Amino acid sequence: MNQGQHFLVTGGAGFLGSHLCKRLLDLGHEVLCIDNYYTGMKANILELMDNPYFEIMRHDITFPLYVETDNIFNLACPASPIHYQFDPVQTTKTSVHGAINMLGLAKRVKAKIFQASTSEVYGDPKIHPQEESYWGNVNPIGLRACYDEGKRCAETLFFDYHRQHGLKIKVARIFNTYGPNMAMNDGRVVSNFIVQALKNEPITLYGDGSQTRSFCYVDDLIDAFVKTMDSPDEFIGPVNLGNPKEFSIKNLAEIIKDMTGSSSKIKYNPLPENDPCQRKPDISLAKRKLKWTPSTPLEVGLKPTIEYFEKILSKGIKNNHQ
Ligand code: NAD
Ligand code: UDP
Ligand code: UDP
Repeated sequence: MNQGQHFLVTGGAGFLGSHLCKRLLDLGHEVLCIDNYYTGMKANILELMDNPYFEIMRHDITFPLYVETDNIFNLACPASPIHYQFDPVQTTKTSVHGAINMLGLAKRVKAKIFQASTSEVYGDPKIHPQEESYWGNVNPIGLRACYDEGKRCAETLFFDYHRQHGLKIKVARIFNTYGPNMAMNDGRVVSNFIVQALKNEPITLYGDGSQTRSFCYVDDLIDAFVKTMDSPDEFIGPVNLGNPKEFSIKNLAEIIKDMTGSSSKIKYNPLPENDPCQRKPDISLAKRKLKWTPSTPLEVGLKPTIEYFEKILSKGIKNNHQ
């Protein structure tokens, strides 16, 4: 990426957005962070605020936005099941109306635009591991549909703006990612287990814990975002981004319990509706086209993540919706 370009990052105060804003500034770019603080927080971007090349705007992307920019990263959307199911209509609006507005903006200013799509477009997958050619198995009227179908429709819009208006697009399907700046109470498995373990409270395992996920450390994912945006215009995706090493959720609980030296007991809770049984990305396309492969093993990435939550807990720092 040439230095000194202008980037708009929607959802820039969220978990992934905050890491992305920092990386873009470190690369010598100018960043406009757009966020309505629905699930993100200023604390995530506090350290960037003194940088004269960083600007923040409180804005909800379901409403039109008229600014100038060279590149757009569209990350705005609640990402954890608890948050996206809290106001499901707003979740669909953010994915769909938000995408239309950001695509309309990209069209007007001729910006390149990146969509943070998700492995959830594959639903509860019938093939394993998931490759990009798989169309998915999504319940269109289930509790996860506001997110899954919203993100699927956003992909449709991105491809139609590309075909119809010649927009430069990049669609990335992100698999479970973890790291510092995750919200403590957003219900995602890594943050839940770490916080429960650090407090020596019961670790809440949903179902029997045999369901699987693969976990990517945030720094690896941000490397992939930058490489995706930097790739030739012909490469538009969709491209899977994630770490293919697969763990059962029970195994994750044991690793976190071990690493924190916690005395927490495992507590079995019912499995939520439409919870995918297994998930693991096939990342051959990303390896081939982006020359990217995640390099952080789970235990290595969990260390700074645990330290982050230890700091938050010990200082009683407000970490979103507490
Ligand atoms: P997050 O909840 O931490 O961040 C989302 C950000 O978007 C928050 O700052 C929130 O306030 C903001 N936002 C929500 N609705 C908005 C709106 N209408 N207008 C403006 N801002 C709005 O989640 P995250 O984990 O950082 O996820 C970022 C993106 O990546 C999301 O689009 C998510 O779907 C996608 N994604 C994340 C993961 C993951 O594992 N973290 C996996 C797949 C996809
Ligand atoms: N839009 C925006 N900022 C812009 C240009 C457009 O927010 O700089 C929004 C606007 O709300 C519009 C939508 O993007 O309705 C889609 O724009 P497009 O030009 O594709 O279609 P329009 O509805 O304007 O015909
Ligand atoms: N999960 C769990 N206990 C928790 C939170 C989540 O067992 O406290 C399980 C959840 O049922 C799912 C997996 O962990 O099978 C990943 O959940 P998360 O919400 O992090 O992400 P997603 O289901 O969207 O992949």
